[in-house]
Amino acid sequence: MSTPVNFSLEDQQQLRQTIEAVAHKRVAPRAAEIDAKAEYPQDMFDLLKEMGLFALPFPAEYGGTGSSVAACIAVEELGRFCYNTGYLLITQWGPVGAILAGGREDQKAKYLNGLLKGDLRAALSVTEPGGGSDVANIITRADKRPGGYALTGTKIFATNSSVADFVLVAAKTSPGRGHNNIGLFIMGKGTPGFLVARHENKLGARGVPSCELRFDEAFVPEENVLGEGSKGFKLVMEAFNRTRPIIGARGVGLARGALELATRFVKERQAFGQSVSEFQGIQWMLADMQMQIEAARLLVYKAAGMVDQGVSGKALAPWAAMAKCFATDMAMKVATDAVQLFGSAGISKDNPIERYFRDAKVTQIIEGTNQIQRNIIGRYVIDTLG
Ligand SMILES: Cc1cc2nc3c(=O)[nH]c(=O)nc-3n(C[C@H](O)[C@H](O)[C@H](O)COP(=O)(O)OP(=O)(O)OC[C@H]3O[C@@H](n4cnc5c(N)ncnc54)[C@H](O)[C@@H]3O)c2cc1C
Repeated sequence: MSTPVNFSLEDQQQLRQTIEAVAHKRVAPRAAEIDAKAEYPQDMFDLLKEMGLFALPFPAEYGGTGSSVAACIAVEELGRFCYNTGYLLITQWGPVGAILAGGREDQKAKYLNGLLKGDLRAALSVTEPGGGSDVANIITRADKRPGGYALTGTKIFATNSSVADFVLVAAKTSPGRGHNNIGLFIMGKGTPGFLVARHENKLGARGVPSCELRFDEAFVPEENVLGEGSKGFKLVMEAFNRTRPIIGARGVGLARGALELATRFVKERQAFGQSVSEFQGIQWMLADMQMQIEAARLLVYKAAGMVDQGVSGKALAPWAAMAKCFATDMAMKVATDAVQLFGSAGISKDNPIERYFRDAKVTQIIEGTNQIQRNIIGRYVIDTLG
């Protein structure tokens, strides 16, 4: 257990109001264009930087609140309007969390300030063409060389990698299945033998690029091996339990945005001589959507609150998994129902709701698919109940 974080209810309300106001005024008007053009939103990155949000969930010594609840609030409020803008925070927070959890002091000193101010950008790359869930089975190699390692292999879906100053790459330091032979390597942009290849043409999350990476004897000096070599990766994976509630908050924000749009639409739309919102069948759909959002929200903030209270490891893992899985499955269900409420207008690219539907699907797959989350929860049930 680490020291509990003190981020009061008043702090939370103030943060929510500030972000909501900015998101409404400056983020919402850009959301459709970012998605349609699938262009990296540099202006949104600059906005988050100006607001100092990259440091938000990290300890006060790095300029943050140290609070996971604060991170959830930011991602929820941004996600109501623009999934991609919230994503800019999360792609940065992954590598920061990894360096904080597994990095040496010299590495923290070299990278953290830049990342948290938004002067540096990073990506985290684990997934390979052969699979993403079965991390123990990755085949990218880190071969020992004098003064460092040479990486050889191919990665896919490395989000943010084409704009990143460096990518944290997971690679095997010796052959064979397992987690104890995986290290994380800080691969600088422009390293000979390192190529950012194809950009995925994605269904959702289109504003932040996900790319194929190729490594052909790309050299990483010893000083850029994260932490204690092949132990670094395991530490980092444990730290990711702490970020799962934040992914859940994305689901909550997205679902709130979808419900707001759908409600506005059914109130204006007329059928059989009355507003569509006056049909009881429609009100029951809206009621179910609202209930699911609030239920997910309670779970997300419970898990984030546990992080803030210093709960970690096995005690946190099932709650983090429940928050991520429940909230993102809920987001998919609510976004699907929101499209239904729009009728044919929901299928048209002229309306924003189809974007929510596409982005919702992504949340069920990233950061550990929802089947993998259920494996964690199922294991917890078997081990602790009955
Ligand atoms: C938009 C987007 C951004 C991403 N960004 C990144 C990134 O920045 N860095 C990165 O490394 N990766 C990234 N990923 C990849 C993501 O982490 C993987 O897609 C995810 O881990 C699943 O791996 P996979 O796609 O290879 O599916 P697979 O692992 O091949 O799984 C296929 C199917 O089988 C299921 N399955 C697998 N194992 C089990 C099991 N034990 N029990 C039950 N079901 C199982 C899965 O849930 C899935 O439904 C991104 C993906 C997307 C869509």
